[in-house]
Amino acid sequence: MKFYFTTLVTTLYFLNFVTSHAEERKIYLEKNKYIILNGNFVQGGIIFGKSIPDTSIKFINRSIYQDKQNRFIIGFGRDFPKIALVEIQYKKTFITKNINIKKQKYKVQRIEGLPKKMVTPPESVYKRIIRENKDIAKVRSLNTKIDYIFQDFIWPIKGIISGVFGSQRILNGKPRRPHYGIDIAAKEGSKIVAPTDSIVRMAEKDLYFTGGTIMLDHGHGVTSVYSHLSKILVLKNEKIKKGVVIGLVGSTGRSTGPHLDWRINWFDQRLDPSLFVQSIK
Ligand SMILES: [Zn+2]
Repeated sequence: MKFYFTTLVTTLYFLNFVTSHAEERKIYLEKNKYIILNGNFVQGGIIFGKSIPDTSIKFINRSIYQDKQNRFIIGFGRDFPKIALVEIQYKKTFITKNINIKKQKYKVQRIEGLPKKMVTPPESVYKRIIRENKDIAKVRSLNTKIDYIFQDFIWPIKGIISGVFGSQRILNGKPRRPHYGIDIAAKEGSKIVAPTDSIVRMAEKDLYFTGGTIMLDHGHGVTSVYSHLSKILVLKNEKIKKGVVIGLVGSTGRSTGPHLDWRINWFDQRLDPSLFVQSIK
């Protein structure tokens, strides 16, 4: 079985990076006064914004936190619609602005004839899965006022990319949840480092799907997830520095071989980690 699944995974993915086309756009509020949006205007992309005083911003019905320097973050999930509406209040004026978001092309793979138990988790673990998903959702809802997100990201580990953001499998005719991370193949026990300074928000040894799991908080709603670890080397709520070893690669949880599954979220929006390690600022 294991062999079968491994072959399947290797045939499934091909290198499919979105080439980073970071661009800068401006939203004018009045003459010589504008908001700068800088980043990838694409599904899975993140935007680094710079506003001016007396401005408040709403995006997907969320009030966007701005720090003292009027910096802010917005992100577009895997299936984000073509048009994003930004609502701005500047002094007493309301401005709404449509911004165009490029679509990504995702790999889809159909696989038939898999044994049923590999496709659906057994009922006995439903409660556990629900509980664990709640804990994860709680971390993803954090809107922490730290600015680590503005640091340049480094790769948590170097290795062969065996799975790309957004790809989807259809198993026995049932579309599965898309793959929201990137998979980096590496030897069991290889070191995983923090891509920026962070606060550890989850450090769990054994989640049903993701096994040993770490979630890091980078601020402004951005969290990152490291799954299938064989060892966790940080503690919940610990403040850590960029480059520090947080855990070791493994194959815990529902995994088919040692690799790091790395995900990045902006609240409920799933972002493409590969865009973070190219220069986007
Ligand atoms: Zn994965």
